[in-house]
Amino acid sequence: MGWADGHCDVLYKLWQDGEGKLDFYSRNGNLDVNWPRAKDAKVRLQVFAIFVPPEVPRSQSWHVALQQVDDFYERVVQKGSRVCPVRSGEEIALLRQGDQMGGLLAMEGADALQGNLSYLRLLYRLGVRQVGLTWNHANEVADGIEEKRGGGLTRFGHHMVQEMDRLGMVLDVSHLSVRGFWDVMEYKIPVVASHSNAQAICSHHRNLMDDQIRAVIQKEGLIGITFVPKFVHDHPEVATVDCILKHIEYILSLGGKNHIAFGSDFDGIDQKIPGLEHIGDVCNLKEELIKRYPEQWVRKWTEENWLDFYVRHL
Ligand SMILES: [Zn+2]
Repeated sequence: MGWADGHCDVLYKLWQDGEGKLDFYSRNGNLDVNWPRAKDAKVRLQVFAIFVPPEVPRSQSWHVALQQVDDFYERVVQKGSRVCPVRSGEEIALLRQGDQMGGLLAMEGADALQGNLSYLRLLYRLGVRQVGLTWNHANEVADGIEEKRGGGLTRFGHHMVQEMDRLGMVLDVSHLSVRGFWDVMEYKIPVVASHSNAQAICSHHRNLMDDQIRAVIQKEGLIGITFVPKFVHDHPEVATVDCILKHIEYILSLGGKNHIAFGSDFDGIDQKIPGLEHIGDVCNLKEELIKRYPEQWVRKWTEENWLDFYVRHL
């Protein structure tokens, strides 16, 4: 049984590193997701986020996004030739046959587009197939979840969703404001919440409310259960692997059996759940899942749901 992960921040760390000291192909190279560990965990697909942090001045944000795309191709794909960039349903389907790991480029927060649909199209040509409209703050597209006014999509945001849909991209609603979420739901575009949990289990505002979970399920989307302690438990310091199972159980109770997946947020977090500290550790979670649920279900959540979703939509 393999694994697929819907969100990691390896590219952000590689960009921060600049000098090239971090090595994706080294086991102890200070990356939570690296090749040796991913191989241990039989990772078939990893989604790599392009994340430009808010402290980057707007004038440099596009450049930083491109730098992270370059890091993906130079330091993840090219260097070991073991990660295969995937851009289409056909390429994802092929992952099932070989033992190569697929890498899918996604963008976390559209700030770097600076309001240009041409930049969106360029990213598509560079292999980016999924975009989360916002990080926590407002941008040209919409408000993020931490923006107190809670605005939805802007006029440009509506144009952008339509253009993403035309190009055949997936829309990620993690980090988006509640109103933005419901604006997006009006469109036919395929949606995921790449790294969000259930608010009924952990009350953090980054998690999804029941009606949002139901809406993602209804839209045949996916929810990537995330390992960020503060999104797992209201007292993050006591979060355990078992607490993650509570989120799964809850989403199951809302009818989400075919809509559960995982989005670790590895390399984007400093706090970790004990026994779930890097991608090699997902075996521990898998063991717990196997104890409680039919193997066929576990296989869907740990791997098949992501692969099926992207085969269907890319
Ligand atoms: Zn995030």
